[in-house]
Amino acid sequence: MPRKKDPFVCPRCGARAQEPNKTWTLVSPMPDKYGRITVTVMGSFTCPSCGYSWRAVVQKIKTGGGEAEEERPREPGMVIEIDLNDLDDIE
Ligand SMILES: [Zn+2]
Repeated sequence: MPRKKDPFVCPRCGARAQEPNKTWTLVSPMPDKYGRITVTVMGSFTCPSCGYSWRAVVQKIKTGGGEAEEERPREPGMVIEIDLNDLDDIE
């Protein structure tokens, strides 16, 4: 078993797609606690063998790091809670 799930492999029959039909990026709306933004590259695949279509995460990029200091304007009475941990547990 591969350690990491291969996004190119068809979840239905196990054949490997050559490349995504289409890719796009998702940018997380909030930086993590280190001030980094996670950019997720998604791909849309079609299986060359059975024709099944699926979408998978092709790559995750963390950007904007290097600033240890957290400086965020705080507006009283305004609470934003977004849990990004589910998307972000590679390590
Ligand atoms: Zn397939």
